[in-house]
Amino acid sequence: MSRSVLVTGGNRGIGLAIARAFADGGDKVAITYRSGEPPEELTALGVLGVKCDITDPEQVESAYKEVEASHGPVQVLVANAGITRDQLLLRMSEEDFEAVLQTNLTGTFRTVKRACRGMLRARSGRIVLISSVVGLSGAAGQANYAASKAGLVGFARSLARELGSRNITVNVITPGFVDTAMTQVVGEERKAEILRQVPLGRYAQPEEVADAVRFLASDQATYITGAVVPVDGGLGMGH
Ligand code: NDP
Repeated sequence: MSRSVLVTGGNRGIGLAIARAFADGGDKVAITYRSGEPPEELTALGVLGVKCDITDPEQVESAYKEVEASHGPVQVLVANAGITRDQLLLRMSEEDFEAVLQTNLTGTFRTVKRACRGMLRARSGRIVLISSVVGLSGAAGQANYAASKAGLVGFARSLARELGSRNITVNVITPGFVDTAMTQVVGEERKAEILRQVPLGRYAQPEEVADAVRFLASDQATYITGAVVPVDGGLGMGH
């Protein structure tokens, strides 16, 4: 059955791979993008691009209206959009902290809350939040990012309890290091240091995260909710 799927931040990186995977599987997929135009490869696949900055409640509302008009109420939401603003604590400004929390946590709250309207009515839905291994382990220079990503775990688990009786599952994926623009800024020395801690000895490809997302949204995962699923090559073992 073709479902209405929405992926935030689906114009590049992990979000793009997730959108492509759902579209390849025959779902009706919409992505949000902030600037420029949605990638041509997605347009060719029939994916709907809706412009939306998730820090703006009005843009979130109008994005949902556009998706609903074309594809019907969102049945699968993948809250993927996120940013980093790394800095050691004493140099981290309130603005750096706030911006990351506003996008990664409050922006996710906003998109999830809006999706739940239709899901509650339908008494069915799948929500997958993209957190990070760093939300569980912490990372020097990423206090803002780690706090936002750890927040997603408490958020998801609360919703899993709140929405379970309505057949809505809420799960979290914690990727390790994935080969995207977000990690291309990491210096060679730091990259080598990170890879020494990854049992599989390499970064993930975005498609490997997309596979786990699709599984959690599939008929093979009907009894999984409140789970935190690592896709990290073994980096976070023990957390
Ligand atoms: P990218 O930086 O490549 O992409 C981030 C996406 O989020 C872009 O589509 C971007 O849109 C969108 N976005 C950012 N801020 C907003 C906003 N305010 N409103 C709407 N969209 C926004 O990152 P990745 O693909 O690597 O990361 C995707 C997710 O995975 C993030 O949540 C990230 O934290 C998480 N993650 C990534 C890891 C990695 O190693 N890459 C590891 C663990 C987790 P735009 O193009 O307009 O900027």
